[in-house]
Amino acid sequence: MTELLGLFPEELNTFLSGQGEKTFRARQVFEGLHKGLCFDEMTALPKEMRRKLADQCVDQPTAIEQVRQSQLDGTRKMLYRLRDGNCVEGVLMKYSYGHTLCISTQVGCKMGCRFCASTLEGCVRNLTSGEMLGEVLCADRLLEADGGKVHNIVLMGSGEPFDNYDQVVRFLRLVSLEQGRCIGLRHISVSTCGLVPEMIRFAGEGLPVTLSVSLHAPNDEIRKQLMPVANRYSIRQVLDACRLYLEKTGRRIIFEYALIRGVNAGREHALQLASLLRGMQCHVNVIPLNDVPERNLEGVSEQQIRDFLDVLEQKHISATRRREMGDDIEGACGQLRKKYLAEEAR
Ligand code: SAH
Repeated sequence: MTELLGLFPEELNTFLSGQGEKTFRARQVFEGLHKGLCFDEMTALPKEMRRKLADQCVDQPTAIEQVRQSQLDGTRKMLYRLRDGNCVEGVLMKYSYGHTLCISTQVGCKMGCRFCASTLEGCVRNLTSGEMLGEVLCADRLLEADGGKVHNIVLMGSGEPFDNYDQVVRFLRLVSLEQGRCIGLRHISVSTCGLVPEMIRFAGEGLPVTLSVSLHAPNDEIRKQLMPVANRYSIRQVLDACRLYLEKTGRRIIFEYALIRGVNAGREHALQLASLLRGMQCHVNVIPLNDVPERNLEGVSEQQIRDFLDVLEQKHISATRRREMGDDIEGACGQLRKKYLAEEAR
């Protein structure tokens, strides 16, 4: 079965012309797919063609299995079901500037970050570009009822985007196509734990998305305790790759830094972080840790968060606290899928 949603217009055209279809049909199929339609719903196509397509091809590879809505802030958490039965999560947040969708790039993750629930059971498989696009189209459908659409995308769900480099880059190009979903690259953030070779390669793609880097530590020693990837690449190498990205795209880098009690949240850590980032065009997202009961890591108090931010501010490092959303609905990475799988297993 060929998954059509992952094809560029010219590839779809080649595929369909191989089946004897005209170019305008390829255009109709492309538009239909990117509106989230199934073959059945593409009423502009002859019935016979729809039937033939359905026999050989996949239209929408991603479906919504479950939605939970936060009573606190309206954040929705989706569990998507993929065609092979695997599940991934997505979070849909409403900000004043529009709806932001957090999407997953892999089923699970193999990076092994100590504080992250997505990685507890390793990586099952990569998502295809069509499946990622499917996450966006499903969210569009949810929003359709109140006339909304996905405006911004963050690749911060389960998975390490640069561990699935080719499909992620293909997805970024597809979702931003004018004749498709047309989400501007400037409205997209890609978050990485810091795979340096892929960061360097990505800087050369000509994709002006925002690069978010999960730093979480002010030195290699602490970073190695939290993130196995720190054994492969030093913070210096990560920052050099960030500078290259900045140089090539002109986009400032966002650093993610989750405060963990007794590990990386002290005044001395804030000072060290500030000197590390001095002079760099960047912004630090300070994140209160979402507790992961499986690991005994804890977040810090409100006061400690403010103190940490104060130090950064005094040192002229742009920093804010990331808003927590959907706290009541297992908003954090990998938590809902884990819970779902556990319930299913019972
Ligand atoms: N693999 C990518 C993207 C997915 S994680 C990356 O590492 O950046 C998205 C963000 O959530 C990352 O910054 C990650 O470090 C952070 N995160 C994961 N678990 C968390 C937790 N328990 N509390 C707070 N942030 C967490």
